[in-house]
Amino acid sequence: MEKHTVVIIPLDNYQQANVDAAVEKGLELLGGIEGIIGKEEKVLLKPNLLARALPQKAITTHFSVFSAVCRLLKEKGYAHVSYGDSPGNPTTTPDKAAEACGIAAEAEKWGVPAGEFNAGSVVHFAEGSTSKSFYLCKAVQEADALINICKMKTHALERITGGIKNMYGCITGVNKATGHAHYPNSEVFADMLADLNRCVRPRLHIMDGVVAMEGNGPSSGTPVNMNVLLFSLDAVALDSVFAGLIHLDPHQVPTCVSGEKAGLGTMDYDQIEILTPDGPLSMDQAREQFGKADFDVYRGVMKKNLLAKLMPLLPFLQHRPRADMKKCIGCGICEESCPVEEKAVHAGNGKKAKYDYKKCIRCYCCQEMCPAKAIEVYRSPWNKLLGGK
Ligand code: SF4
Ligand code: SF4
Repeated sequence: MEKHTVVIIPLDNYQQANVDAAVEKGLELLGGIEGIIGKEEKVLLKPNLLARALPQKAITTHFSVFSAVCRLLKEKGYAHVSYGDSPGNPTTTPDKAAEACGIAAEAEKWGVPAGEFNAGSVVHFAEGSTSKSFYLCKAVQEADALINICKMKTHALERITGGIKNMYGCITGVNKATGHAHYPNSEVFADMLADLNRCVRPRLHIMDGVVAMEGNGPSSGTPVNMNVLLFSLDAVALDSVFAGLIHLDPHQVPTCVSGEKAGLGTMDYDQIEILTPDGPLSMDQAREQFGKADFDVYRGVMKKNLLAKLMPLLPFLQHRPRADMKKCIGCGICEESCPVEEKAVHAGNGKKAKYDYKKCIRCYCCQEMCPAKAIEVYRSPWNKLLGGK
Protein backbone atom coordinates (compact mmCIF):
# COMPACT_ATOMS: atom_id res chain seq x y z
CA MET A 1 0.00 0.00 0.00
CA GLU A 2 1.35 3.40 -0.97
CA LYS A 3 2.17 5.62 2.02
CA HIS A 4 1.43 9.33 2.00
CA THR A 5 3.78 10.95 4.47
CA VAL A 6 2.93 13.93 6.65
CA VAL A 7 5.69 15.21 8.93
CA ILE A 8 4.72 16.97 12.16
CA ILE A 9 7.39 19.11 13.80
CA PRO A 10 6.46 20.50 17.22
CA LEU A 11 7.32 24.20 17.55
CA ASP A 12 5.93 26.64 20.09
CA ASN A 13 7.54 29.89 18.99
CA TYR A 14 8.67 31.84 15.94
CA GLN A 15 12.26 32.48 17.01
CA GLN A 16 14.14 32.33 13.75
CA ALA A 17 16.82 29.83 14.82
CA ASN A 18 14.13 27.45 16.07
CA VAL A 19 12.04 27.82 12.92
CA ASP A 20 15.13 27.26 10.76
CA ALA A 21 15.91 24.02 12.64
CA ALA A 22 12.26 22.90 12.43
CA VAL A 23 12.05 23.45 8.67
CA GLU A 24 15.36 21.66 8.15
CA LYS A 25 14.19 18.69 10.24
CA GLY A 26 10.79 18.58 8.55
CA LEU A 27 12.30 18.39 5.08
CA GLU A 28 14.89 15.87 6.21
CA LEU A 29 12.13 13.57 7.49
CA LEU A 30 10.35 14.02 4.17
CA GLY A 31 13.44 12.67 2.41
CA GLY A 32 15.34 15.90 1.67
CA ILE A 33 14.53 18.84 -0.59
CA GLU A 34 16.96 17.65 -3.27
CA GLY A 35 14.76 14.62 -3.94
CA ILE A 36 11.74 16.86 -4.40
CA ILE A 37 13.04 19.79 -6.47
CA GLY A 38 16.07 19.94 -8.79
CA LYS A 39 18.59 22.70 -8.10
CA GLU A 40 18.31 24.16 -11.59
CA GLU A 41 14.54 24.44 -11.49
CA LYS A 42 12.72 27.76 -11.17
CA VAL A 43 11.21 27.59 -7.69
CA LEU A 44 8.22 29.72 -6.68
CA LEU A 45 7.39 30.12 -2.98
CA LYS A 46 3.67 30.64 -2.42
CA PRO A 47 2.94 31.85 1.12
CA ASN A 48 -0.53 32.95 2.22
CA LEU A 49 -0.69 36.73 1.70
CA LEU A 50 -4.45 37.05 1.99
CA ALA A 51 -4.46 40.64 3.18
CA ARG A 52 -2.34 43.52 4.35
CA ALA A 53 -1.97 42.34 7.94
CA LEU A 54 0.55 42.26 10.76
CA PRO A 55 2.13 38.83 11.39
CA GLN A 56 0.60 38.44 14.87
CA LYS A 57 -2.91 38.49 13.37
CA ALA A 58 -2.27 34.96 12.00
CA ILE A 59 -3.92 35.89 8.69
CA THR A 60 -0.75 35.34 6.67
CA THR A 61 2.06 32.79 6.72
CA HIS A 62 4.53 33.86 9.41
CA PHE A 63 7.60 35.54 7.93
CA SER A 64 9.98 33.33 9.95
CA VAL A 65 8.65 30.17 8.24
CA PHE A 66 8.98 31.81 4.85
CA SER A 67 12.49 32.98 5.79
CA ALA A 68 13.55 29.49 6.90
CA VAL A 69 12.52 28.05 3.52
CA CYS A 70 14.44 30.82 1.69
CA ARG A 71 17.53 30.18 3.81
CA LEU A 72 17.43 26.43 3.25
CA LEU A 73 17.04 26.77 -0.53
CA LYS A 74 19.81 29.38 -0.77
CA GLU A 75 22.21 27.38 1.39
CA LYS A 76 21.60 24.29 -0.72
CA GLY A 77 22.38 26.19 -3.90
CA TYR A 78 18.96 26.80 -5.45
CA ALA A 79 19.64 29.82 -7.66
CA HIS A 80 16.23 30.54 -9.18
CA VAL A 81 13.87 31.26 -6.33
CA SER A 82 11.05 33.81 -6.35
CA TYR A 83 7.89 34.29 -4.30
CA GLY A 84 4.43 35.80 -4.29
CA ASP A 85 0.69 35.49 -3.86
CA SER A 86 -2.36 37.31 -5.13
CA PRO A 87 -4.24 38.66 -2.10
CA GLY A 88 -7.97 38.11 -1.99
CA ASN A 89 -8.54 41.58 -0.59
CA PRO A 90 -9.29 43.96 -3.49
CA THR A 91 -7.90 46.95 -1.63
CA THR A 92 -4.37 45.64 -1.40
CA THR A 93 -1.61 44.47 -3.74
CA PRO A 94 0.88 41.59 -3.50
CA ASP A 95 3.74 43.91 -2.51
CA LYS A 96 1.75 45.75 0.17
CA ALA A 97 0.54 42.47 1.70
CA ALA A 98 4.08 41.05 1.68
CA GLU A 99 5.45 44.20 3.24
CA ALA A 100 2.88 44.36 6.06
CA CYS A 101 3.43 40.82 7.29
CA GLY A 102 7.23 40.97 7.12
CA ILE A 103 7.67 38.56 4.21
CA ALA A 104 8.98 41.22 1.81
CA ALA A 105 11.83 42.08 4.19
CA GLU A 106 12.83 38.42 4.53
CA ALA A 107 12.70 37.95 0.77
CA GLU A 108 14.99 40.93 0.31
CA LYS A 109 17.39 39.60 2.94
CA TRP A 110 17.72 36.30 1.07
CA GLY A 111 17.81 37.83 -2.41
CA VAL A 112 14.47 36.29 -3.41
CA PRO A 113 12.62 38.54 -5.89
CA ALA A 114 8.86 38.96 -6.05
CA GLY A 115 7.27 37.17 -9.01
CA GLU A 116 4.58 38.78 -11.17
CA PHE A 117 1.26 38.27 -9.39
CA ASN A 118 -0.49 41.37 -10.71
CA ALA A 119 -0.76 40.12 -14.28
CA GLY A 120 -1.64 36.79 -15.82
CA SER A 121 -3.47 35.06 -18.62
CA VAL A 122 -5.84 32.21 -19.31
CA VAL A 123 -4.32 28.75 -19.06
CA HIS A 124 -6.41 25.94 -20.51
CA PHE A 125 -6.75 22.75 -18.52
CA ALA A 126 -8.68 20.25 -20.61
CA GLU A 127 -8.35 17.53 -17.95
CA GLY A 128 -10.34 19.60 -15.46
CA SER A 129 -13.61 18.02 -14.36
CA THR A 130 -15.17 21.26 -13.07
CA SER A 131 -12.93 23.96 -14.47
CA LYS A 132 -11.29 23.74 -17.89
CA SER A 133 -9.26 26.95 -17.60
CA PHE A 134 -7.76 29.28 -15.04
CA TYR A 135 -6.58 32.87 -15.14
CA LEU A 136 -3.14 32.19 -13.67
CA CYS A 137 -0.60 34.74 -12.48
CA LYS A 138 2.43 35.08 -14.71
CA ALA A 139 4.82 33.98 -11.93
CA VAL A 140 2.93 30.70 -11.53
CA GLN A 141 3.10 30.03 -15.26
CA GLU A 142 6.84 30.68 -15.34
CA ALA A 143 7.74 28.44 -12.38
CA ASP A 144 8.94 24.85 -12.64
CA ALA A 145 8.24 23.95 -9.03
CA LEU A 146 5.85 25.53 -6.60
CA ILE A 147 6.32 25.35 -2.82
CA ASN A 148 3.06 25.94 -1.01
CA ILE A 149 3.75 27.62 2.36
CA CYS A 150 0.22 27.78 3.69
CA LYS A 151 -1.39 28.84 6.96
CA MET A 152 -3.50 26.71 9.30
CA LYS A 153 -6.84 28.55 9.51
CA THR A 154 -10.58 28.21 9.55
CA HIS A 155 -12.59 29.17 6.48
CA ALA A 156 -16.24 30.21 6.27
CA LEU A 157 -16.97 28.38 3.02
CA GLU A 158 -14.68 25.33 3.26
CA ARG A 159 -14.44 24.98 7.08
CA ILE A 160 -10.64 25.04 6.95
CA THR A 161 -8.04 26.51 4.65
CA GLY A 162 -4.73 24.73 4.42
CA GLY A 163 -2.77 23.32 1.50
CA ILE A 164 -5.43 22.88 -1.18
CA LYS A 165 -7.21 26.20 -0.67
CA ASN A 166 -3.96 28.22 -0.59
CA MET A 167 -3.50 27.60 -4.32
CA TYR A 168 -6.39 29.97 -5.01
CA GLY A 169 -3.90 32.83 -4.76
CA CYS A 170 -2.34 31.60 -8.02
CA ILE A 171 -5.31 33.26 -9.74
CA THR A 172 -4.99 36.97 -10.39
CA GLY A 173 -6.86 39.53 -8.27
CA VAL A 174 -10.34 40.17 -9.55
CA ASN A 175 -10.62 36.77 -11.23
CA LYS A 176 -10.77 35.15 -7.80
CA ALA A 177 -14.05 36.91 -7.02
CA THR A 178 -15.43 35.85 -10.41
CA GLY A 179 -14.51 32.27 -9.51
CA HIS A 180 -16.67 32.47 -6.41
CA ALA A 181 -19.62 33.49 -8.58
CA HIS A 182 -19.02 30.59 -10.99
CA TYR A 183 -18.61 28.00 -8.23
CA PRO A 184 -21.20 29.18 -5.72
CA ASN A 185 -21.19 26.47 -3.05
CA SER A 186 -18.57 24.75 -0.97
CA GLU A 187 -18.67 21.51 -2.95
CA VAL A 188 -18.27 22.87 -6.49
CA PHE A 189 -15.80 25.44 -5.24
CA ALA A 190 -13.75 22.61 -3.73
CA ASP A 191 -14.00 20.66 -7.00
CA MET A 192 -12.64 23.71 -8.82
CA LEU A 193 -9.80 24.00 -6.27
CA ALA A 194 -8.92 20.35 -6.83
CA ASP A 195 -8.72 21.03 -10.58
CA LEU A 196 -6.57 24.09 -9.89
CA ASN A 197 -4.19 21.99 -7.78
CA ARG A 198 -3.97 19.44 -10.57
CA CYS A 199 -3.22 22.26 -12.99
CA VAL A 200 -0.48 24.08 -11.05
CA ARG A 201 0.86 20.93 -9.33
CA PRO A 202 2.54 22.27 -6.19
CA ARG A 203 5.54 20.06 -5.47
CA LEU A 204 5.76 20.51 -1.70
CA HIS A 205 3.43 21.74 1.06
CA ILE A 206 4.54 23.33 4.31
CA MET A 207 1.82 24.43 6.75
CA ASP A 208 2.43 27.09 9.37
CA GLY A 209 0.42 25.97 12.38
CA VAL A 210 2.60 27.38 15.12
CA VAL A 211 -0.03 30.05 15.65
CA ALA A 212 -3.16 29.08 13.73
CA MET A 213 -6.50 30.88 13.35
CA GLU A 214 -9.76 29.57 14.77
CA GLY A 215 -13.30 30.96 14.76
CA ASN A 216 -14.28 33.53 12.15
CA GLY A 217 -11.45 32.75 9.69
CA PRO A 218 -9.72 33.16 7.35
CA SER A 219 -9.17 36.81 8.27
CA SER A 220 -11.41 37.76 11.20
CA GLY A 221 -10.74 34.82 13.49
CA THR A 222 -8.69 34.43 16.65
CA PRO A 223 -5.03 33.43 16.74
CA VAL A 224 -4.56 30.16 18.61
CA ASN A 225 -1.42 28.19 19.45
CA MET A 226 -1.33 24.83 17.68
CA ASN A 227 2.45 24.61 18.01
CA VAL A 228 3.19 22.60 14.87
CA LEU A 229 4.64 22.82 11.40
CA LEU A 230 3.36 20.23 8.91
CA PHE A 231 5.15 19.02 5.78
CA SER A 232 3.91 16.80 2.96
CA LEU A 233 3.98 16.12 -0.76
CA ASP A 234 0.28 15.25 -0.56
CA ALA A 235 -2.01 18.25 0.03
CA VAL A 236 -5.02 16.05 0.83
CA ALA A 237 -3.09 14.11 3.48
CA LEU A 238 -1.70 17.38 4.86
CA ASP A 239 -5.15 18.97 5.20
CA SER A 240 -6.58 15.71 6.58
CA VAL A 241 -3.95 15.64 9.33
CA PHE A 242 -4.75 19.30 10.10
CA ALA A 243 -8.43 18.26 10.31
CA GLY A 244 -7.49 15.32 12.53
CA LEU A 245 -5.58 17.58 14.92
CA ILE A 246 -8.66 19.75 15.43
CA HIS A 247 -10.90 16.69 15.88
CA LEU A 248 -12.69 17.21 12.59
CA ASP A 249 -13.43 14.34 10.21
CA PRO A 250 -11.71 15.13 6.86
CA HIS A 251 -14.85 13.79 5.14
CA GLN A 252 -16.49 16.99 6.44
CA VAL A 253 -13.90 19.12 4.65
CA PRO A 254 -15.00 19.71 1.03
CA THR A 255 -11.44 20.38 -0.21
CA CYS A 256 -10.26 17.04 1.20
CA VAL A 257 -13.23 15.19 -0.33
CA SER A 258 -12.77 16.84 -3.73
CA GLY A 259 -8.98 16.50 -3.56
CA GLU A 260 -9.18 12.78 -2.94
CA LYS A 261 -11.83 12.34 -5.65
CA ALA A 262 -9.53 14.16 -8.09
CA GLY A 263 -6.62 11.87 -7.26
CA LEU A 264 -4.52 14.50 -5.48
CA GLY A 265 -3.98 12.33 -2.41
CA THR A 266 -5.69 10.52 0.40
CA MET A 267 -7.80 11.26 3.49
CA ASP A 268 -7.45 7.68 4.72
CA TYR A 269 -5.44 7.74 7.94
CA ASP A 270 -4.47 4.09 7.35
CA GLN A 271 -2.63 5.21 4.24
CA ILE A 272 -1.08 8.31 5.80
CA GLU A 273 2.29 7.86 7.45
CA ILE A 274 2.76 10.47 10.18
CA LEU A 275 6.38 11.10 11.10
CA THR A 276 7.78 13.20 13.94
CA PRO A 277 11.34 13.73 15.20
CA ASP A 278 10.57 11.09 17.87
CA GLY A 279 9.25 8.50 15.44
CA PRO A 280 6.05 7.57 13.62
CA LEU A 281 2.59 8.09 15.10
CA SER A 282 -0.89 6.96 14.24
CA MET A 283 -3.48 9.73 13.73
CA ASP A 284 -4.97 8.89 17.13
CA GLN A 285 -1.56 9.30 18.78
CA ALA A 286 -0.85 12.53 16.86
CA ARG A 287 -4.25 13.91 17.86
CA GLU A 288 -3.54 13.03 21.46
CA GLN A 289 -0.09 14.60 21.40
CA PHE A 290 -0.66 17.71 19.25
CA GLY A 291 -4.44 18.06 18.86
CA LYS A 292 -6.94 20.56 20.19
CA ALA A 293 -10.45 19.20 20.74
CA ASP A 294 -11.98 22.61 21.42
CA PHE A 295 -10.53 24.28 18.31
CA ASP A 296 -13.28 26.65 17.17
CA VAL A 297 -14.30 25.44 13.71
CA TYR A 298 -17.75 24.99 12.23
CA ARG A 299 -18.70 21.35 12.89
CA GLY A 300 -22.27 21.33 11.58
CA VAL A 301 -23.40 20.27 8.14
CA MET A 302 -22.53 22.31 5.08
CA LYS A 303 -25.28 22.93 2.59
CA LYS A 304 -26.21 19.87 0.55
CA ASN A 305 -27.10 19.79 -3.13
CA LEU A 306 -30.80 19.43 -2.40
CA LEU A 307 -30.59 22.29 0.00
CA ALA A 308 -28.65 24.34 -2.53
CA LYS A 309 -31.49 23.86 -5.01
CA LEU A 310 -34.01 25.07 -2.44
CA MET A 311 -31.89 27.94 -1.27
CA PRO A 312 -32.96 30.59 -3.78
CA LEU A 313 -36.47 30.17 -2.35
CA LEU A 314 -35.36 30.22 1.21
CA PRO A 315 -32.81 32.97 1.58
CA PHE A 316 -33.68 33.68 5.18
CA LEU A 317 -33.56 30.08 6.37
CA GLN A 318 -30.02 29.24 5.36
CA HIS A 319 -26.62 30.14 6.69
CA ARG A 320 -25.72 33.69 5.75
CA PRO A 321 -23.23 36.50 6.32
CA ARG A 322 -24.35 39.06 8.89
CA ALA A 323 -22.78 42.40 9.71
CA ASP A 324 -22.50 43.78 13.23
CA MET A 325 -23.54 47.43 12.92
CA LYS A 326 -21.53 48.36 16.00
CA LYS A 327 -18.32 47.20 14.35
CA CYS A 328 -19.08 48.22 10.74
CA ILE A 329 -17.18 51.33 9.65
CA GLY A 330 -18.94 51.72 6.31
CA CYS A 331 -15.76 51.24 4.29
CA GLY A 332 -17.52 49.43 1.42
CA ILE A 333 -14.92 46.65 1.03
CA CYS A 334 -17.67 44.03 1.41
CA GLU A 335 -19.53 45.49 -1.57
CA GLU A 336 -16.32 45.70 -3.56
CA SER A 337 -15.47 42.05 -2.75
CA CYS A 338 -18.92 40.70 -3.61
CA PRO A 339 -18.65 38.70 -6.85
CA VAL A 340 -22.37 38.93 -7.63
CA GLU A 341 -22.81 41.32 -10.53
CA GLU A 342 -25.61 43.34 -8.98
CA LYS A 343 -23.99 43.06 -5.53
CA ALA A 344 -25.65 41.25 -2.66
CA VAL A 345 -24.32 43.69 -0.11
CA HIS A 346 -24.21 47.47 -0.30
CA ALA A 347 -21.98 49.71 1.78
CA GLY A 348 -19.40 52.46 1.45
CA ASN A 349 -18.75 56.15 2.03
CA GLY A 350 -19.78 55.68 5.64
CA LYS A 351 -22.95 53.77 4.73
CA LYS A 352 -23.05 50.54 6.74
CA ALA A 353 -23.46 47.09 5.21
CA LYS A 354 -26.91 46.08 4.03
CA TYR A 355 -27.50 42.61 2.58
CA ASP A 356 -29.86 41.37 -0.09
CA TYR A 357 -29.98 37.67 0.77
CA LYS A 358 -31.97 36.83 -2.36
CA LYS A 359 -28.91 37.70 -4.42
CA CYS A 360 -26.31 36.33 -2.02
CA ILE A 361 -24.58 33.12 -3.17
CA ARG A 362 -22.98 32.50 0.27
CA CYS A 363 -19.41 32.66 -0.95
CA TYR A 364 -18.38 34.65 2.16
CA CYS A 365 -15.88 36.84 0.28
CA CYS A 366 -17.32 39.81 2.20
CA GLN A 367 -16.65 38.10 5.56
CA GLU A 368 -13.15 37.20 4.41
CA MET A 369 -12.29 40.75 3.39
CA CYS A 370 -13.96 42.90 6.06
CA PRO A 371 -11.15 44.83 7.79
CA ALA A 372 -13.24 45.56 10.89
CA LYS A 373 -14.14 41.92 11.71
CA ALA A 374 -17.74 43.09 11.49
CA ILE A 375 -19.10 40.16 9.46
CA GLU A 376 -19.83 36.73 10.84
CA VAL A 377 -21.48 33.71 9.30
CA TYR A 378 -24.87 33.17 10.91
CA ARG A 379 -25.39 29.41 11.11
CA SER A 380 -29.12 28.97 10.77
CA PRO A 381 -30.85 26.24 12.81
CA TRP A 382 -33.31 25.87 9.89
CA ASN A 383 -30.60 24.10 7.94
CA LYS A 384 -31.33 21.02 10.04
CA LEU A 385 -34.95 21.00 8.97
CA LEU A 386 -33.90 21.40 5.36
CA GLY A 387 -31.79 18.28 5.19
CA GLY A 388 -28.81 19.03 7.43
CA LYS A 389 -28.08 17.43 10.80
S1 SF4 B 1 -19.22 45.20 6.95
FE1 SF4 B 1 -16.98 45.36 7.03
S2 SF4 B 1 -16.35 45.57 4.89
FE2 SF4 B 1 -18.55 46.02 4.96
S3 SF4 B 1 -18.67 48.24 5.18
FE3 SF4 B 1 -18.76 47.35 7.26
S4 SF4 B 1 -16.62 47.37 7.94
FE4 SF4 B 1 -16.54 47.65 5.71
S1 SF4 C 1 -22.92 39.25 0.09
FE1 SF4 C 1 -21.01 38.26 0.80
S2 SF4 C 1 -21.50 36.09 0.87
FE2 SF4 C 1 -23.12 37.07 -0.31
S3 SF4 C 1 -22.44 36.84 -2.43
FE3 SF4 C 1 -21.70 38.83 -1.75
S4 SF4 C 1 -19.63 38.43 -0.97
FE4 SF4 C 1 -20.63 36.45 -1.17
